Amino acid sequence: MISAGSPLSAYKGVWVWIQIAQGEPYPPSLELLTVGRSVADRLKEELVALITGRGTEAHARTLAGFGCDRVVAVEHPLLESFSTDAHGKVLTDLILARKPSIVLYSASLEGRDLASVVAARTLSGLAADCTTLEVNEKGQLVQIRPDYGGKSLSAILTPKTRPQMATVRPGAYPRPAFNEARKAAIEVIIPDLRPEDIRVRPLKLEVRTTDTADVSQADILVVVGRGLRSKDNLHLAYELAEVLGGRVGATLSVVERGWLPSSFQIGQTGKIVAPRLYIALGVSGAIQHTVGMEGSKFVIAINSDPDSRIFTVADIGIVGDLFEIVPELIKRLKEYVQGKIDHEKITSLKASLPLREPS
Ligand SMILES: Cc1cc2nc3c(=O)[nH]c(=O)nc-3n(C[C@H](O)[C@H](O)[C@H](O)COP(=O)(O)OP(=O)(O)OC[C@H]3O[C@@H](n4cnc5c(N)ncnc54)[C@H](O)[C@@H]3O)c2cc1C
Repeated sequence: MISAGSPLSAYKGVWVWIQIAQGEPYPPSLELLTVGRSVADRLKEELVALITGRGTEAHARTLAGFGCDRVVAVEHPLLESFSTDAHGKVLTDLILARKPSIVLYSASLEGRDLASVVAARTLSGLAADCTTLEVNEKGQLVQIRPDYGGKSLSAILTPKTRPQMATVRPGAYPRPAFNEARKAAIEVIIPDLRPEDIRVRPLKLEVRTTDTADVSQADILVVVGRGLRSKDNLHLAYELAEVLGGRVGATLSVVERGWLPSSFQIGQTGKIVAPRLYIALGVSGAIQHTVGMEGSKFVIAINSDPDSRIFTVADIGIVGDLFEIVPELIKRLKEYVQGKIDHEKITSLKASLPLREPS
């Protein structure tokens, strides 16, 4: 399928596929415009936001504000809901016709699905679940992802085929700042798409979970580990998250026990998070977990084991029983929010807690 006569140098441009979810650009795909920008600048190539769906033009100006050079809005009623067949055909046709050097997708369910189909059809390379993207001295995309249970990082190159394609974990990069004054060329394309191109069509969309909160987008996270002992104790995490205006996340151990769904999992095989505040309750801090939260701006860890690894990544470590500390913390925070506690009292509260300096 790939045109045999095209040298690698014929491929130009960095494309970011912008997924639409619930009628809006999916935030993790906007994050890719940050790394897309730096890669495009390094290669001195154009950064293109490629949006596929229905009503795409309405989002084009927003995408321009996030700093791309061009928005390609692929508009068709058959692209209204995600389908691998429809979106796969549209992307494959465009890639074969326009020859971008790089195509990036968010590692969402849809992004992973789509990227693998497009890679197979265009015979191009695909590195899945990357956490860092760089450009080497040869101008190749270096696609870095954790491997061997998070104990090593692999750098993957696609030296022989184009485009170089990668799915990137949500939260790996911050969303670029929005600036209304930024301008981008806007191109609307109506693809050649027919109902018979789509072999599978969803008849009904049923949301099975009541909490669809995306931990990768949370500003404040209260993360629970096996130290919570039981699902029945989750209310402690939810109460703390509520009083702080945050969300609840989890380790793999918690998900494996069925206390929370896998969408809550943070780490190597879960989501990457970078909140302003990350509070770990009974989390040991295994490397497979911390690889997903190292970008957090401030980390507070509560753990009864003074030698727990979580303290090596914590700004404040509290050695103690979470069942004693968390209810007290919730009580004091509520008093603070209600104006019943002043700063002096907070200083004395801090002094009374067994705080441990980060090592
Ligand atoms: C290939 C692979 C991929 C993996 N991917 C992930 C991943 O994406 N995310 C992830 O999280 N893990 C992942 N893991 C698992 C990881 O190695 C750890 O097993 C897991 O993170 C441990 O979870 P935990 O901290 O909840 O449990 P534990 O390691 O059992 O830690 C529980 C902690 O709670 C503390 N504690 C107990 N009681 C109390 C109390 N009353 N008060 C305060 N503290 C208390 C203990 O001191 C302990 O430190 C992966 C493993 C492999 C092999």
